[in-house]
Amino acid sequence: MARAMKRVPVREQEPKVRAANFEEVSYGYNEEEAVAEAKRCLNCKNPRCVGGCPVSINIPKFIHFVSERQFEEAFKTIQESSLLPAVCGRVCPQETQCEGPCVMGIKGEAIAIGKLERFVADWAREHHIVPEKPDFSTGKKVAVIGAGPAGLTCASELAKKGHDVTIFEALHEAGGVLVYGIPEFRLPKEKVVAKEVENVKRLGVKIETDVVIGKSVTIDELLDEEGFDAVFIGSGAGLPRFMNIPGEQANGVYSANEYLTRNNLMKAFKGYDTPIHRGKKVVVVGGGNVAMDAARTALRLGADTHIVYRRSEAELPARAEEVHHAKEEGIQFHLLTNPVEILVDDEDWVKGIRVIKMELGEPDDSGRRRPIEIPGSEYDIDADTVIMALGTSPNPLISSTTEGLDVNKWQCIVADDEGATSRKGIFAGGDAVSGAATVILAMGAGKKAAASIDAYLKTLD
Ligand SMILES: Cc1cc2nc3c(=O)[nH]c(=O)nc-3n(C[C@H](O)[C@H](O)[C@H](O)COP(=O)(O)OP(=O)(O)OC[C@H]3O[C@@H](n4cnc5c(N)ncnc54)[C@H](O)[C@@H]3O)c2cc1C
Ligand code: SF4
Repeated sequence: MARAMKRVPVREQEPKVRAANFEEVSYGYNEEEAVAEAKRCLNCKNPRCVGGCPVSINIPKFIHFVSERQFEEAFKTIQESSLLPAVCGRVCPQETQCEGPCVMGIKGEAIAIGKLERFVADWAREHHIVPEKPDFSTGKKVAVIGAGPAGLTCASELAKKGHDVTIFEALHEAGGVLVYGIPEFRLPKEKVVAKEVENVKRLGVKIETDVVIGKSVTIDELLDEEGFDAVFIGSGAGLPRFMNIPGEQANGVYSANEYLTRNNLMKAFKGYDTPIHRGKKVVVVGGGNVAMDAARTALRLGADTHIVYRRSEAELPARAEEVHHAKEEGIQFHLLTNPVEILVDDEDWVKGIRVIKMELGEPDDSGRRRPIEIPGSEYDIDADTVIMALGTSPNPLISSTTEGLDVNKWQCIVADDEGATSRKGIFAGGDAVSGAATVILAMGAGKKAAASIDAYLKTLD
């Protein structure tokens, strides 16, 4: 039987409808659609897709189970490598990871691995299939700092090996960027993230929220006084960057992290106590996933929303799907344009943003063509809110309170490929080491570090 070269399309909310609500954009596959898509997979002997997955999920095996309607087996296969499949199936950049090298993509469309992963994870959740706590214990205690993808993955891998793991999380909810950064319309919090966090706890992992390591307690105190044998740092990169242009201190200027946290975690959009400035005209500066998320959130709060980005469409770092969705929803892009000043009224509120046109010159260190200002091309855009989405760095709190922990010039913790830092017994991974990256890379780093920690704990016997 000839295989379909095109993937089974996924149903989505209509752009006009979804632009006014926070419900999930994509409906995902139903059983029939998932089985039809899974049947396109060639079940390759040397599956290139697996090489593209940072946590090495056995992709052909789980897809084969889907094609046979053995959904529970498919879930168990994924779970051997990942405890956050409903998250990854929704937000991972599959087009550059597992789906990028898929052989079906050479002449047709790559298998929709992410959509199948999401289907399997959602099916398992709806059928209450959950992981079990191991029935053995090593007696070794590990502290994990941060309940983002890196920390959750490291903690669950260690718990599976019988270690006693406690995660310390600064915020009042576990999930890291999954709860405070990525909006509800891409990643539902209660339905998806909370349930996957629950699965981590089912393995025996304890999560203590509202504990800021470096303030409430230091890493050295955890090791010397609280009886922990090893520490994993997965504290992410939550410190926003700004442009240092005039007017950036005005009322109505937000970092994307603050704006999204107020919405996602503090639920400002649902009328909770946390206030948010509901702009009528919002300008978001930046071109990554974070910029798209901030812009699409502002749009849903009722604003006429614009994105200002200094390079061209080809260099936009956001996922193609996010840019496509943002355009469909009516967000206006000012490409090859860069802010020079935020315009402020007499009461120190934003009233607009002055931008300048750019052109692309020779490639810079990142390999992308360097944007150069075109003299005399400045113009003003009216705005009452400006959101800066220019990237983030790790917060120096942990490194500055932990003697002998090496960091590089961007404040990223220095760790080798296996997660070992300059301090014995202290491991690190995820955005805290790499700088802002992706969910699956953070999970991959958490998994590798867990293997190193397990090996280290054995040396203590
Ligand atoms: C808005 C936004 C959208 C994104 N979209 C995508 C996407 O679509 N796909 C994708 O793959 N990636 C996306 N990313 C990137 C991705 O979310 C991150 O790379 C990933 O979450 C990093 O995981 P992590 O565990 O290293 O850190 P985080 O998720 O940042 O988690 C770190 C945790 O540590 C806690 N912490 C920090 N300091 C301390 C301390 N001193 N004590 C205790 N706890 C502490 C923090 O509160 C946080 O909960 C996005 C990021 C943002 C901000
Ligand atoms: S490379 Fe593509 S076709 Fe081959 S096993 Fe992986 S998903 Fe299936």
